This record gives sequence, structure tokens and C-alpha cells, in this order.
Amino acid sequence: MPFSSLGLLPTLLRALAEKGYVAPTAIQTAAIPAILQGRDVVGSAQTGSGKTAAFALPLLQQLAEAPLQAPRPVRCLILVPTRELAAQVGESIVSLANYLPKKVKVAVVFGGVSINPQMMNLRGGADIVVATPGRLIDLIDHNALTLASVHTLVLDEADRLLDLGFGEELDRILGLLPAQRQNLFFSATFPPAIEALAASLLHKPLRIEVPMAEQTAPDIAQRAIEVDAPRRTQLLRHLVQSEGWSRVLVFVATKHAAEIVADKLRKAGIEAEPFHGELSQGKRSQVLLDFKMKILQVVVATDVAARGIDITQLPVVVNYDLPRSAVDYTHRIGRTGRAGESGMAISFVSADTEAHFRLIEKRQRLSVAREQVAGFEPVQSGATSASAPSSNGGIKGKRPSKKDKLREAAAARGQAAQKE
Ligand code: AMP
Repeated sequence: MPFSSLGLLPTLLRALAEKGYVAPTAIQTAAIPAILQGRDVVGSAQTGSGKTAAFALPLLQQLAEAPLQAPRPVRCLILVPTRELAAQVGESIVSLANYLPKKVKVAVVFGGVSINPQMMNLRGGADIVVATPGRLIDLIDHNALTLASVHTLVLDEADRLLDLGFGEELDRILGLLPAQRQNLFFSATFPPAIEALAASLLHKPLRIEVPMAEQTAPDIAQRAIEVDAPRRTQLLRHLVQSEGWSRVLVFVATKHAAEIVADKLRKAGIEAEPFHGELSQGKRSQVLLDFKMKILQVVVATDVAARGIDITQLPVVVNYDLPRSAVDYTHRIGRTGRAGESGMAISFVSADTEAHFRLIEKRQRLSVAREQVAGFEPVQSGATSASAPSSNGGIKGKRPSKKDKLREAAAARGQAAQKE
């Protein structure tokens, strides 16, 4: 089905053609007509499904048809869990709005940077505000904006918003919104707290479920290489140098490991930087920019980078440490193979993490052949390394007192990375 059959304005179709989007994704096909009709929508969809354009296109169309007002009242509020996702959603909307006859003003606000430029930018209002909840509340408290005119609320990655502890902020923001409004709710997972939030927000919603298979369908080759945990950095260095990868995003379990692994790669002459939540916003933006500009070959990141970040032409993702859950696995590998390109996701599996990887495969209904690289064949067995702490942290929700165990495992992983 072409985009033209979804009822979109020719100016939006032109922007889509320019971006090279040939046909709508499953979530776009289902959501766009419903949102245009003013319906509430709940979508179970991950990054990579095309959900941003699924809500952005109809929102822009509604705005294009609304009368101009000065100052611009905030008509659409998009709440997202992270600064990176905020920036990315904002960029995406601006590029889709390129050819609309009336200029649409999009304000992107998030914490970790000075509030003043954001307050200045909100003078004169904004049509669409993309925000992380904490900074939005700060801005409201500074009288920089009001939510009284919002007609559409989007919660993007709602599960992550709650995971990151934004529940209270969310309640406060919801209380400031007009009761009559359209609600669009997107989440990768639907645990009971998310179902309850969706039920409290949505009015007779259209429910859209994009099957997992369709979401990971972008052409991503999944590989698993067996290697002893202490040799992972050497193997990574070997692969980066021998496979001719232009860019690699490497996932590790802790900020500390990100620093150490990036440092070791740099010492081996590879342009590498860490990326994690303790870096300043300026540094994080710089690393991402350098990665996008191909100044950096390797970024070693914690799961902060697993969602939201969109880097086209990222050929390889490496799970140096396995993700905690199957859902995180999907998010991580979804960083490659974006926008119709092919990609590769490689997981390092050691004797200690083999059982955990098998669980991920089971949950993903996957079977990934184990490979070994000459010179890096593992010598440790599960039995020999059984005394070592598990370096995966366990599948979410499957163990008691998981936070403590995770902290322990993370600390152990940091130490392991330090030794390498
Ligand atoms: P999202 O799930 O919104 O993060 O989008 C995932 C990626 O797919 C982004 O790189 C988008 O630019 C791209 N994308 C979104 N819709 C389409 C489409 N219809 N055709 C091709 N690429 C798309």
C-alpha cells in the first residue's frame, strides 16, 4: 500500500519521498488513518517499527489544518524518556514538516542542559513540544509554557518512562492537561503498570500490535561468538581491525566497563569513545555527532544508547556484555539495520553467559549458531568458571532480589573489563 492511500497531504508525501520512505510500515498503515480521524491509539511497538512517523505525520496534518494563533498555543505534547529520544523525535518531526505551507514550531526540551535557552525558545509559544517529564515540569514552574491548549498527548516508550521513575512527574503533567484530548500511547512492553496507565488514559483506543518478528525484520544477521570473558576486548579489537567495519556500537553492562573498553581500543589505535549516563549532555551529543560523522569508529555504550538512538548506516552492533532481557536485546540490535539497510548483531557468549543467551534465544524464538574465531577459542567451561559471578544479571523478573544481584553482577563485570 502506498503512503498516498493513507489520506496524507501532498506536502507530507513530498517530505516522505525526499526521505526515501517508499511504503508505510505496518504501524504507520494502521495508525495514520485512525489518528487523522481523532481516535486514541495504543501501539505495542519498538524503535525500528517506524512509530515516530506513525504519530508525527497525522499530528502535522492536524496542525497544518488548524488556524494560526499568536502566541502559538502548545497543541501537541510528546513525552519521551530520554534526551536522545527527545532530540531524535524533534528532528524527525522537523524534517517531515519541511514542505508544509505554514511553519510548524517544534520545541525540544530536556534536562541536563541549561534551562534558559529552552525558556527563550518557548517565547512566542510552540505548536509541538517534545519533552522529558522532569524538564517539562521545571519549565511549567517557570511559567515558560502552559498545557491548557494541548489537544494531543503522545507517550512514547511509556514503559521506559515508568522504568526510569517518571511516574510522579507523569501524574502531575496529566493533571495539567485538558480532559478532552487525543491520546497516543506507544510502548515496547505492556506489564500491568503500563496496561493500567493505558487504561486510565485512553478512550476507546485502536489497539495496534506489531509482531516482534516484524519489528526485528529489518535485515539483521544475528551471530554469537564463543569467547572467554577475559579475552573479549582482544577479540573485539581483532574483529574491528580485521573485518573492515566502518562503525561499531558496542554494548557493555556498566559505565565503568564502557570507559575501560573504549580506553583499551584507543590505546590500540582505534577511534573509540564511551557513551553512558554519567557523561555531560554536551559530551554525549559530541560523541554521537562524531559517530554519525564517522570521526569515531567505535562507541562503547551502556543501555542508555539501546533505545531511541538512530544512526543510519550502522553496520554492526556488538553485545560485549549480554543484555539483561530479551526486550533489551531487541532494542540493542535494532540500532543496526535501520531504515531498510542490512546490519549485523554479534553477541559474545562465554561459558558463564551461555545459559542466559539461550534464554534470550528462547524468548526471541531464535536459534543463533555459535561460532569461534581462530586464536580466540574458549578454554573455560561452565564448570571451571562456575565460581565466577554471573556476568549477565539474569533475565528480568525471573530472580528474587534482582537489583542486588544486578549490582553485584555489574560490579563483577566492571572488574572483569578492568582486568582485560
Ligand atoms: P522509529 O521506529 O520511528 O524509530 O523509526 C525507525 C527508522 O525507520 C528510522 O530510521 C526512520 O527514519 C525509518 N523509517 C520510518 N518509517 C519508514 C518507512 N516507511 N520506510 C522506510 N524507513 C522508515
